[in-house]
Amino acid sequence: MPTATAPAPSNAPSVGAYRQLHIDGQWRDAANGKRLAVINPATEETIAEVAFGGREDTRRALEAAHKAMPAWMKLTAWDRAKVLKKTAELMRERADGLARTLTMEQGKPVAEAKAEILHSADTFEWFGEEGKRAYGQVIPNSAAGKRHMTLKHPVGVVGAIGPWNFPVTLQSRKIAPALAAGCTIVCKPASQTPLSLVNLFDILIEAGLPKGVANLVIGSASEISEEFLKNPICRKISFTGSTEVGKQLMRAAADQVKRLSLELGGHAPFIVFPDADPEVVAKAAVIGKFRNNGQVCISPSRFFVHKDVEKKFTEVAVAAAKALKLGNGLEPGIEVGPMFEKKALDNTLDLIKDAAGKGAQVLTGGKRSDRFEKGYFFEPTVLKNISPDAKILTEEPFAPVLPVLDFSKLDDVIAAANNTRYGLAAYVFSNDLTVAWRMAEGIEAGIIGVNDPVPATPQCPFGGMKESGLGRELAHEGLEAYLETKYISIKLRD
Ligand code: NAP
Repeated sequence: MPTATAPAPSNAPSVGAYRQLHIDGQWRDAANGKRLAVINPATEETIAEVAFGGREDTRRALEAAHKAMPAWMKLTAWDRAKVLKKTAELMRERADGLARTLTMEQGKPVAEAKAEILHSADTFEWFGEEGKRAYGQVIPNSAAGKRHMTLKHPVGVVGAIGPWNFPVTLQSRKIAPALAAGCTIVCKPASQTPLSLVNLFDILIEAGLPKGVANLVIGSASEISEEFLKNPICRKISFTGSTEVGKQLMRAAADQVKRLSLELGGHAPFIVFPDADPEVVAKAAVIGKFRNNGQVCISPSRFFVHKDVEKKFTEVAVAAAKALKLGNGLEPGIEVGPMFEKKALDNTLDLIKDAAGKGAQVLTGGKRSDRFEKGYFFEPTVLKNISPDAKILTEEPFAPVLPVLDFSKLDDVIAAANNTRYGLAAYVFSNDLTVAWRMAEGIEAGIIGVNDPVPATPQCPFGGMKESGLGRELAHEGLEAYLETKYISIKLRD
């Protein structure tokens, strides 16, 4: 039975509450009656409970989205934009509270959480405007008396699955373009970080979202994805998460030739040439690496530093890593919060043990912090002398570890940077235009930051080559991902 949502403290919305699924314009318990506790990784305490649904709820949500789509797609792009732009406005107004909830369920420092909320607000605003530019074309005819054109048509009902590392940003990159294009959507957040998406749904509703246009199902990943895959109402799956799960979805989506967007793993090279200032770049490297504890798909994770500046770079990076202030992300001045869960800590320890066993030197960190009785805190770590077969170089690490490698020739470092199945992001530091351009052309990655450690912005395309994914989010490409092209040919009367 649908019921009202319990009120939540406004300084951290949804914390301390029981929150439900949102289907067909109503907040509802899961059909199976299950609930799930949401844990704060800094304190290991339960901060809220959510309904935890499954296949039945997903079927209802898809049906609601299907029912809502004809009216939503018939609205003008201008009217749809009103909802998206109001969402952006409310997110900005409430950014402090939304950021606190995000910190409490995910762990990142509250300043990083606020930056995530504001980036997501920008994404809503930008797609509200870009929806007005879903242009077709008029194509010159070759046969006299014929006229050709294309129209853009929304793909249909979308199933959106997102991860826990940026729970608001990564769902916003799906919800905003899907709604702008005239699609309707069913969202599944990561089970450990549902509250931030619940808060976003509160705002979407207040911004005027018609019922059924966006639905929220928190619950079993296997049941929800099974329904997305098997139910023909769902015309597209947009997934952000691990490459392994992306491949499973890709195989299964073949049965209905379901449209797919996949934003998957990465293993970004960070390449420093000798003309760059090693001190400045090392400080930027430490900020980039330890943001969200390295649990970022575009986190730099292999640091190739030219042998002429490697010593200085490493010295500064070690000092900067040691100086980072570790603690509960809600406290002022904290720069690194807890890792997201115990499994992530264990995985980090395993990567370091493996590298050390193959000869790596731990210059700082390398262990769980012993300053905290509770919480998944790991000391920011710098490694060098790493064997090429160490797991930290061959598997996506998702960990607060900065491995320093050296190089001397441009072609060699391009080959080393490309020696991975991933191709999401890469970073190049050089003031030599020729070097920077050669690198940008030679590196196999969808996003390349030249002297820019934080390249993501709503108007530019985001996505990967090779096993890092399929398609692009953000930018005009991110809108196209929710549109089909219809070709229309007209034969005029003689
Ligand atoms: P994950 O295990 O693949 O989970 C991501 C989402 O998929 C969660 O909602 C999860 O649900 C769900 N899921 C798990 N198993 C599934 C299955 N068999 N079928 C359908 N859905 C399933 O990934 P993660 O460990 O949470 O996230 C980290 C990964 O995401 C990294 O590889 C990272 O690089 C990647 N990532 C990529 C981008 C990008 O833009 N390219 C951005 C961020 C993260 P439950 O939580 O309920 O298990």
